[in-house]
Amino acid sequence: MNTMMHSVLRSATVTLILMNPILATSVADATDPETHSPLFKSWINGVSASEPQMQVQRYDNDTYVIRQSIRTNFEGPFLYVLFGNDRALLIDTGAGGLNVRPTIDRVIDEWAARHHRMFIPLIVAHSHSHGDHHQGDVEFQDRPHTIVVGLYPKEVADFFKISDWPNQIVSYDLGGRVLDIIPTPGHQSAHIMMFDHKTRLLFSGDSLGPYRLYISMNEAKTYRDSIDRVAAFTRDKQVSWIFGAHIEMTTKPGELIPDEASSHPDEHVLEISYSNLPELQTALHAMGDNLVQDAHHDFVIFPEPAREQQPFAPPAK
Ligand SMILES: [Zn+2]
Ligand SMILES: [Zn+2]
Repeated sequence: MNTMMHSVLRSATVTLILMNPILATSVADATDPETHSPLFKSWINGVSASEPQMQVQRYDNDTYVIRQSIRTNFEGPFLYVLFGNDRALLIDTGAGGLNVRPTIDRVIDEWAARHHRMFIPLIVAHSHSHGDHHQGDVEFQDRPHTIVVGLYPKEVADFFKISDWPNQIVSYDLGGRVLDIIPTPGHQSAHIMMFDHKTRLLFSGDSLGPYRLYISMNEAKTYRDSIDRVAAFTRDKQVSWIFGAHIEMTTKPGELIPDEASSHPDEHVLEISYSNLPELQTALHAMGDNLVQDAHHDFVIFPEPAREQQPFAPPAK
């Protein structure tokens, strides 16, 4: 989430990988999708030296949730693979310090085998453009039948055919599986959330989940407007769960795991309930532009100093 320490940490994590030959990952089914309680088996949390670099759990037949090991990068982000009839969507490619494509390829192969398919085209898109969410992009640039969506807001808007960024919400069809793409700049300029009609999941990236909601002081209104946008749009959608991209809280309400911790014992679950969205909306409106750190049961508003934001379009070549 915080990209400052990446270069330092990457050199450390490369060493770790060389010493740790365990590259294997395992696919496990999440608990029965009908009951969803608890939603997933325990996630790898950096506590065990023998944990795999990536852990895959299936939410349903066409939805995979993948965690990058905190031992490869303290961010320990979550990635998602959603399958439709016509194409698959990978949301985010990790924080670096490992190769993610072998795991993604294996997930796709596993899905294709179960569905008696030879292959399925892949779209690689991002929750947003912070460095802990796209380090694996390069691995997919030359992959057959694959499109890697760019990192600037204009590139995201062009791909999803959003003509009025960030006000317009569009549908994107994976083939019998429609996603709504909701521009949500604020945490970062190119941020989007996705609502999946099939699972009624809301994929929230770094903008709402059991972690620090980093918001630059100069982006308070942009972020608040985005939360208003997604709240208004999803109000009648019966969102099942909100799935974010990190876990930085403990099981104790409002308690943060120390920043950049090397392991996450007693970690919060990934999913949070939809009620957190109106709760965040109310808190942001109460604060206005004077953001203050504010711990809630399942998220922590975490202001940062004003900083320059990524421009809408990439620089002219
Ligand atoms: Zn971020
Ligand atoms: Zn992040």
